[in-house]
Amino acid sequence: MTAYEQFEQHIAELNDILNSISVLKWDARTNMPSGGAATRGNQLATLSRIAQEHFVSDKTAQFLDAAEAEVASENKDSYRVRAVQQTRQYFELVKHIPVEVTSKRATLAPISEQVWSEAKQNNDFASFAPYLQQMLDLSKEQAEAVGYTGHPFDALVFEYEPSATAASLKVLFDDLKAGLLPLLKKIVANDKPLEKDLWQHEYALDKQKSFGWEMAQKIGYDTQRGRLDIAPHPFEISFTRNDVRITTRYNLNYLPMALFGTLHETGHALYEQGVDPSLTRTALTTDFLGQYPVGGTSYGAHESQSRLWENQIGRSREFWEVHFDRLRQIFPEQMADADPDLMYRSVNRVKPSLIRVEADEVTYNLHIMLRTEIEMGLLDGGLKVTDLPEIWNAKMEEYLGVTPPNDSKGVLQDVHWSGGGFGSFPGYTVGNVMSAQFLKAAHEQVTGLDASLGHGDYMPLLGWLQSNVYRHGRAYSANELLQRSTGTELHVKPYLEYLETKFSELYGLS
Ligand code: ZN
Repeated sequence: MTAYEQFEQHIAELNDILNSISVLKWDARTNMPSGGAATRGNQLATLSRIAQEHFVSDKTAQFLDAAEAEVASENKDSYRVRAVQQTRQYFELVKHIPVEVTSKRATLAPISEQVWSEAKQNNDFASFAPYLQQMLDLSKEQAEAVGYTGHPFDALVFEYEPSATAASLKVLFDDLKAGLLPLLKKIVANDKPLEKDLWQHEYALDKQKSFGWEMAQKIGYDTQRGRLDIAPHPFEISFTRNDVRITTRYNLNYLPMALFGTLHETGHALYEQGVDPSLTRTALTTDFLGQYPVGGTSYGAHESQSRLWENQIGRSREFWEVHFDRLRQIFPEQMADADPDLMYRSVNRVKPSLIRVEADEVTYNLHIMLRTEIEMGLLDGGLKVTDLPEIWNAKMEEYLGVTPPNDSKGVLQDVHWSGGGFGSFPGYTVGNVMSAQFLKAAHEQVTGLDASLGHGDYMPLLGWLQSNVYRHGRAYSANELLQRSTGTELHVKPYLEYLETKFSELYGLS
């Protein structure tokens, strides 16, 4: 074996351990009875420790040194060079994260998630607060150990969005607010109720599931390498490109919840399934920090794909002109006097509301800004855990003009903080912005893309995304991917243009 092959073999084993951890996490979030939480925590802690010991070891250091020497003169953009570089970067980083922090977090996270889930059900923030405090303390400890130059948030956001900092996000958010707030104001002023409310009917769960499953396959989900389950907080997770699972949740009246949830997670899954097979079990599909999504280069890059397929495709007029008849076949009574236009308008209602995952495209990013600002405050000490319900409600009123009637619909709505996922929220907004840049470039580069989307053929778009984004796994940063395929780095213009065009037409704005 060459030095590089030895290095590759060593990382492949780490990849196996991390993917086994992911299988246990998937199980915990879908099928595990609540009684299993504590012992599952032990299992995850043990495996996480083994993963970290495998990675932060003299062996890794030796293999890495030798592999670096072997690829020293190779093309800087080659997968081999990138695999070595990424491993070095995370090796230096992980060495600084105390083993106690990683294993304490792994033990605590499933219990904390369980407590959060019950607290959300019972509208009982006080019972969750001590767990949130512990998860926050662990994240602070990690930020201090890893180090940062600007804000402690920078050390944590690196796990999800390596090129973002508290300062760069502030600029991005300001640029977005400048476009979004006036647009939202105009929409609210022009809002008229729709002539029919499609969501007063009941939609049987199994039929919802079969329509969602069919649409997932239409946009390219390979079911031989995937499956769909129910989860209270839906997610996608992969154990290599050969096993990429999605989850959704159902509301018997509100059809869009499961349908767009399924399309969203399918978008994530298309990314994972589209990674070049040669990258399987390599550093370029290894999330060294044990977070997921694993194959994608950042949370934002990943989210750009879930949101592109969910919103820019699934909520487009063309999509409903093609697929409405099939929906009406499945729900003949409920859709009896509906048509594609009503469906299109019904799934694109803009309304400042309480729940992030149900938010429309125009208000969504305001939910993210609120969470990110709160995280920054918690990390720099400006905010206390016990103040959260009050701060949350005040910010909701300020940004969206609505006040949650209880904490279940407010500060307790998201799973992220219960698992210690501080720094992950901005990825959603970065993803929204990226998605518009990618789609604009695809339209410029793929001949006849409008026509193929217009008759429900998603393969030309999927092909462009595969060859420009998915296949590279983690080889290039989010900004490198954008630069290589669109010619520019992250910027808000295409996204704001997309929203303005779509919603001006929908709401008759001048
Ligand atoms: Zn997502």
